[in-house]
Amino acid sequence: MYQVIDGKKISQEIKDELREKAARMREQGIERTLAVVQVGADPASSVYVRNKKKACEYVGVRSLSYELPEETGEEKLLGIIRELNEREDVNGILVQLPLPSHINEERVLLAISPEKDVDGFHPVNVGNLSIGRPGYVSCTPAGVIQLLKRSGISIQGKECVVLGRSNIVGKPMAMLLLRENGTVTVCHSRTENLREITRRADILVAAVGKPRMVDETYVKDGAVVIDVGIHRNEDNKLCGDVDFESVAPKTSYITPVPGGVGPMTIAMLMANCVEGI
Ligand code: NDP
Repeated sequence: MYQVIDGKKISQEIKDELREKAARMREQGIERTLAVVQVGADPASSVYVRNKKKACEYVGVRSLSYELPEETGEEKLLGIIRELNEREDVNGILVQLPLPSHINEERVLLAISPEKDVDGFHPVNVGNLSIGRPGYVSCTPAGVIQLLKRSGISIQGKECVVLGRSNIVGKPMAMLLLRENGTVTVCHSRTENLREITRRADILVAAVGKPRMVDETYVKDGAVVIDVGIHRNEDNKLCGDVDFESVAPKTSYITPVPGGVGPMTIAMLMANCVEGI
């Protein structure tokens, strides 16, 4: 019988621990501040930004909000980031993606000081992760590690297969599993004999961006399956990269969508804000 990993519960535990920690820090006169920058009013981005601010309020992180109009120029945005980099009272800077098409996303992310890059996207932090130095880690893959650890699933020595090699999920996920002493394989759209590889996995992380692509034929009996994907299906219901119904009975543990990896991303953002590097 498989167990469903409850990401909502685990993310709440983490936020409660961070709330206590932030309160203790405040008693010592230390306050954490996150600056959240949004350009334009994309409805999905607005929901994410609202949820991040709500989490800040709950945990006890001060949040500064920069809601800039869609037509904001790149230079203006870079100026605001430079200002935030300089401010001693700001510990974290988050620029909500995607940015409008007239702004170069890479230039903007590079402008954020690595010491304040709580999203963990800056090449300095990516590099630190790959050579085992302290630094901010991308929140979604960091959340997956917490889901595994807090469910009592050991990673050491396990065959871990990551399906997807994006800069924000697949690659940092692979580096983190390696840091935990997993034996890691990364698959992508050019991988040959995909099922042969995924069927070797003790821990399979699906971050492929294709609704319900991973069915039972990709999964070994007793595997742990973590579904990072988020999509809306034909009925406007949320689903993941994994076909939960067919896969779950083969697994020992599996994350649902919604309520699995999703809630962990904001919890880990809060961890980055409170705990720093
Ligand atoms: P990307 O689209 O950036 O990357 C997808 C990866 O999957 C690529 O490396 C691609 O390979 C690979 N891929 C695509 N099709 C196949 C295939 N048929 N076989 C094997 N590999 C394939 O997606 P992200 O990494 O940004 O996101 C992945 C999923 O996670 C999405 O559903 C996204 O919505 C979700 N997500 C969820 C978050 C959360 O908080 N829970 C946060 C971020 C993302 P190649 O490199 O060769 O193109």
